[in-house]
Amino acid sequence: MSETPPPTARPGPAFADLHLHTLFSDGTFTPEELAGHGARFGLVAMALTDHDTVEGCARMDAACRKLGILSITGAELTAEQDGNEVHILGYFLDPENATLQASLKKFQAVRQNRIHEMVARINRLKIPLRAETVFAIANCHSPGRPHVGRALVQGGFCGSLDEAFDRFLKKNRPAYVPKFKISALEAIELVHQAGGLASMAHPGLNRSDEVIPALAAAGLDGIECFHSKHTAAMSDYYLDIAARHHLLVTGGSDCHGFSKGKPLVGGCKLPGVHYDRLMEHYKTRAASRAPDATAAQPS
Ligand code: AMP
Ligand code: FE
Ligand code: FE
Ligand code: ZN
Repeated sequence: MSETPPPTARPGPAFADLHLHTLFSDGTFTPEELAGHGARFGLVAMALTDHDTVEGCARMDAACRKLGILSITGAELTAEQDGNEVHILGYFLDPENATLQASLKKFQAVRQNRIHEMVARINRLKIPLRAETVFAIANCHSPGRPHVGRALVQGGFCGSLDEAFDRFLKKNRPAYVPKFKISALEAIELVHQAGGLASMAHPGLNRSDEVIPALAAAGLDGIECFHSKHTAAMSDYYLDIAARHHLLVTGGSDCHGFSKGKPLVGGCKLPGVHYDRLMEHYKTRAASRAPDATAAQPS
């Protein structure tokens, strides 16, 4: 647990934001900037969930600790199940876990190769984008489509990131390259063997509801009912599904930086009651496991 206790004495309800990205993947904030924004929004806990990496989590922990915010080590894994894309959020991961490290390295290599393939497709359209430019913009081990989009904008080939996605990068567009994905069941197992809890990210965006019973039966721990792109009706719908499958409720903004001129962090918050249940579940499970499983305790 944090040496500095989380600011539970803060007046008003407690909120957490458990879905956040930094420049260690496709976000634009540093971990320190993200923690600073979280403190201004009065968050009691934050989870960094960069795509296929935990590299930013140590800095996030240190920044949060200084601000009295509880930090949870996380990652967002791209997976698929029965032809549906499913994103799995891993929480309380042990960043030193060897199997997790090896898997993340593999996912990152796939991402890097995919950049070359996307750039080759763009070059076939007579747009002289260079992979080196994309890698320089990404400046991380886990590059993705937003970095290709930013390179297209910076090179003057597109007017905006949205245009880059709409013209080139979205599914069924000429530069779209599918990514190797592990199954959601494998992603859940990967998270569990690294001491973590697994939650299905933004189900309202992926609309893969039919896979939820199988994932729940396979040990999925939670479902992200609260997300900045979920309507209130969607949140209610998934709260009901969570109750029916005995799943924990998670939530977060999915902040990648500024959105409409404001930092998105804190823009969608998990109510304290759900956050408390998540923490309780984690502690109970960690206590029932081998002593080394407690290594992933939040700082
Ligand atoms: P990737 O993991 O490389 O397939 O890229 C997926 C990421 O692209 C998501 O996590 C979002 O950050 C971003 N993204 C997806 N669709 C769009 C869009 N239409 N406009 C801007 N960013 C997007
Ligand atoms: Fe992203
Ligand atoms: Fe996602
Ligand atoms: Zn995300």
